[in-house]
Amino acid sequence: MDDKPVMLIVDDVEINRVVLTQFFQEDYAIIEAENGQEALQALTEHNVSIVLVDLVMPIMDGFQVLAFMKQDDQYMGIPVVVMTANNDGDSEARAMEMGAADFITKPYNPTIVRCRIRNVMAREENEWRRAAQVAQNRQLAEMHQFAERDPLTGIFNREAFYRRASERMQAHYQTPYSIVYMDISCFKVVNDLFRIETGNLVLKTAAYYLDVLAGEDGICARIEADHFALCMPTDKLDMDTVIAGLDSTIQSLGISHNVLFYAGVYPVENAFLPVDQMCDRAHMALNRVKGKYMPRYAFYDKAMRDQMIEEQMIVRNMEYALQERQFVIKLQPVYGLQEKQVIGAEALVRWNYPKGMIMPGKFIPIFEKNGFIVRLDRYVWEEACKVLRSQLDEGVEPVPISVNVSRLNFFSHDLLEFLQGLVKKYDLQPNLLKLEITESAYVENPHQLMAMVRAFRGNGFPVMMDDFGSGFSSLSMLKDLPVDVLKIDMAFVQEVDKSSRAGAIMETVVELGQRLHMNVVVEGVETKEQLDFLERIGCREVQGYYFAKPMDVESFKGLVKRSRNIAE
Ligand code: C2E
Ligand code: CA
Ligand code: CA
Repeated sequence: MDDKPVMLIVDDVEINRVVLTQFFQEDYAIIEAENGQEALQALTEHNVSIVLVDLVMPIMDGFQVLAFMKQDDQYMGIPVVVMTANNDGDSEARAMEMGAADFITKPYNPTIVRCRIRNVMAREENEWRRAAQVAQNRQLAEMHQFAERDPLTGIFNREAFYRRASERMQAHYQTPYSIVYMDISCFKVVNDLFRIETGNLVLKTAAYYLDVLAGEDGICARIEADHFALCMPTDKLDMDTVIAGLDSTIQSLGISHNVLFYAGVYPVENAFLPVDQMCDRAHMALNRVKGKYMPRYAFYDKAMRDQMIEEQMIVRNMEYALQERQFVIKLQPVYGLQEKQVIGAEALVRWNYPKGMIMPGKFIPIFEKNGFIVRLDRYVWEEACKVLRSQLDEGVEPVPISVNVSRLNFFSHDLLEFLQGLVKKYDLQPNLLKLEITESAYVENPHQLMAMVRAFRGNGFPVMMDDFGSGFSSLSMLKDLPVDVLKIDMAFVQEVDKSSRAGAIMETVVELGQRLHMNVVVEGVETKEQLDFLERIGCREVQGYYFAKPMDVESFKGLVKRSRNIAE
């Protein structure tokens, strides 16, 4: 492109663009856009000097373009001339109020149009001079703005939102308000697949939409990354409209990837609660729907409140519980169908909380979120080692115990050293401690996991793939990851009764494991019918309630001792 200043002409009617282009192509390099969304895209791609925009357009109209530009530091200085129908005084006035530099009316009179544009450009130059004079004031004002505004989108930042929403709700504490917390699913994918500018455009467009939606009554903000929040009087909030509006605004950007917004709503009961806590509650509601196709928003309710209180209890007490040895292990035997006796066990943790036993399903996911799982797992491994040591000391030959290794462990660099330290401390053969890993670790970081698995096995620790078949990449993972044992997900055996397909899959997986020289353990065996089926297809190791539930350490040791006596 040559050195001419760039003019962006935005009009959905082609003939209008053609006419205007003819007027100005001598003096300007012309870029055309058919609607507001295309215009915003063009703004990011070209160094635009002036914008001519039609007020009435589908998808995103001229007012929206104007509003977007005037609130964005990068574009607010570019003069915008709006184009209106001949007799639409209201629109002209509104556009001028919103910061339009001038307006031109249709049908176009070439002389008038040229003059007006020339005036606008001349005024711009004068503006620059005047701007220099008031620079000092502006800088001060801007500093204030920066403290409150998110630099990318121009809407409020997190701190400003907490402060302003709180002030607003407290000033009108008799009006019911709601806090909405929003998040985009798979936004990272958008950033990875497209240029960072595309991601930014999505964020800016969403922010712009929310800002218009909030209007005078509400407050919106970008809390972080792709998270937004909105504070609105409850009677002005229609969540179906919010989500549908966000969807269509983002869809009109024409990105070939589905960008979906999810929201959680917290109807404020007490305006004096800190807003960050209100956001947490809305966020909790959001987590209930995130990633689902429908519905896309949820309200915070009593069940979530109870869950939150329980989570807080768990997090508050976890350190103390570890110190006080409130975590205990149960051992669930693994049976050899050929040996007809117990050939191993899995260590499963329980929390012996003073008010009653808590099952791992309640606390493991929380510890996986806050990282505590790494310490708890190590504690459990050590408890398992103690069981093995005490059996050896009592003269009973132990069976191997398998322990769960949560995926977070693979981020600690001393994982192998820790395990080696344990077997050394309790003077055990490493093959007595089997490591159960899950596919999720592989999905996150296949290369690192492959290296770790090699290192474990190289040092004598057998590795088991837990919950095999429950994830997405099971088969491709098998190709890369040479584990010793496949533990087939419980869901399969429980399906066997209902569907012959599940049976066929199970049979194939058992055979596959054998061909790859891996042992196959089937877990979750609950009935005689399931057992008969497994025996028929050549399965050799099973774990499940049919044989035994997880039991306390002493009972387990008794079981092993008895089976040894029978064997002798
Ligand atoms: P998992 O590793 O898949 O463990 C198997 C779960 O299935 C255990 O539940 C076990 O009690 C249960 N189970 C065994 N046989 C049957 C059966 O026949 N029918 C049914 N319906 N269930 C059976 P549990 O003990 O509640 O543990 C749940 C999950 O918590 C475990 O699933 C594991 O993912 C996690 N977990 C337990 N202990 C630990 C631990 O020390 N560390 C880590 N990271 N995770 C653990
Ligand atoms: Ca397991
Ligand atoms: Ca399992």
